[in-house]
Amino acid sequence: MVDAHETHVIVGAGLAGAKAAETLRAEGFTGRVILVGDEREQPYERPGLSKTFLAGSSPRGELFVHDSSWYAAHEVELRLGSR
Ligand SMILES: Cc1cc2nc3c(=O)[nH]c(=O)nc-3n(C[C@H](O)[C@H](O)[C@H](O)COP(=O)(O)OP(=O)(O)OC[C@H]3O[C@@H](n4cnc5c(N)ncnc54)[C@H](O)[C@@H]3O)c2cc1C
Repeated sequence: MVDAHETHVIVGAGLAGAKAAETLRAEGFTGRVILVGDEREQPYERPGLSKTFLAGSSPRGELFVHDSSWYAAHEVELRLGSR
């Protein structure tokens, strides 16, 4: 159950933002975690874009930092397409 009295808002839903959210939960933070990203994709790792995905050697899903169910499972509110 999330404690609504404390909130972390992380701006930038890239690798650093997704890992910051993961670390907050891993270290026991029980407040709200809101991860805001201006892209429409959930957090992904950019190196794989050029090295594997665009080369056709890995599927799109492998670029994601977490699978899409991870955010709800860890009560991380993902707000995509928002600056
Ligand atoms: C094609 C490519 C290949 C790469 N290959 C390598 C490699 O092989 N090795 C390596 O070490 N590094 C590589 N890099 C660099 C590496 O990907 C970056 O260092 C890494 O992505 C940085 O992560 P980050 O989360 O800090 O930033 P980003 O991945 O840039 O994520 C930041 C996110 O925040 C969003 N954002 C910014 N401002 C706002 C705002 N005001 N409101 C909402 N959202 C916002 C951005 O749109 C972006 O989605 C590569 C980069 C690219 C583009």
